[in-house]
Amino acid sequence: MNIYDVVIIGAGPAGLAASIYASRYKLSNLVIGKQLGGELSLAHKVENYPGFISITGLELCEKFKEQVEGLGAEVLLKEVGRIEKVKSEKLKVKSHSSKFKVFVGEDEVYEAKALIIATGSERKRLDIPGEKEYMGKGVSYCYTCDAPFFKNKTVALIGGADSAVSGAVHTAEYAKKVYIIYRKDRLRAEPIWVEEWKKIEEQKKGETIYNTNIAEIAGDGTKVSGVKLDKQYKGSDFLEVDGVFIEIGGVPGTSLIKSLGVKLDETGHVIVDEEMKTNIFGLFCAGDMVNKSAKFKQATLAVSQGALAAASVYKYLKQESAPSQRGV
Ligand code: NDP
Repeated sequence: MNIYDVVIIGAGPAGLAASIYASRYKLSNLVIGKQLGGELSLAHKVENYPGFISITGLELCEKFKEQVEGLGAEVLLKEVGRIEKVKSEKLKVKSHSSKFKVFVGEDEVYEAKALIIATGSERKRLDIPGEKEYMGKGVSYCYTCDAPFFKNKTVALIGGADSAVSGAVHTAEYAKKVYIIYRKDRLRAEPIWVEEWKKIEEQKKGETIYNTNIAEIAGDGTKVSGVKLDKQYKGSDFLEVDGVFIEIGGVPGTSLIKSLGVKLDETGHVIVDEEMKTNIFGLFCAGDMVNKSAKFKQATLAVSQGALAAASVYKYLKQESAPSQRGV
């Protein structure tokens, strides 16, 4: 069986940048991810990635992939089922034997001397009545994918940060009326998105309902008909909408590595040190899932962390005798 120097799990900006750097360090590497580009692929417009004035998230990710493959690495778009750490007593650590087994499906197994995990974050849910029932019937977690289905309809976006506000701006290109329902009294998206949204509000095409949560998503059993608000807006606690986009952020995607005993902080992000090392020997993490991204989840940061993780793997694998990595 082929043993890679490093297997990278996650095909978003962090994982793909890690591969680019790993290839340039001449480390054999394989990228496995269930979706090319991860969350970035869903951005309808990226205008803050240096070198590109304006590009869609998917186009940018395709360019990353092209660069990865051009350097000789493979990107496998599949879901990893589980990871196994080969117990240290079975290893001859002096020669850096395989330390991890990555299982994809029933019988695909990849071995690696080191792992870089860059599995980003998973969309947060509201956990309110009607949310699950109407998923795909008007409830969506991806405005980029689903906004075109709401041509001339009325929709609500839940949240008050970048995804909700940029999503509302994008959705207004299709829908006849867009609401943002936000639990606080001031949107906290990048000023440029807030300015764009204000223009839509001035055209009476958009409205923001502040200091409000939604308590329930209602419908006729086949599609959404509205949302129940936790307080009255313009004399009613029911807002008629055809669609609800839940854009309330994500939780770090750590489910694959929790069983390995990786240390997490109180917000669920993986604790890494300055070199993107975790507390597990040979396991590195980068991107939205790590504590260093907790307050700034941006592709530019993910890319730099992926690059750094690859450099750290290179250093780690260069250590000939039993390495002294301590982790954090
Ligand atoms: P964030 O975590 O940044 O924001 C989540 C938003 O949802 C906040 O306004 C939060 O409220 C609200 N929220 C969270 N939980 C609930 C809940 N249970 N009920 C109601 N509201 C809730 O997530 P985003 O998806 O907006 O952004 C994720 C990352 O992606 C960020 O780092 C962002 O900068 C980046 N991004 C950047 C874009 C860009 O154009 N640069 C576009 C999209 C995303 P509160 O404010 O009260 O915490």
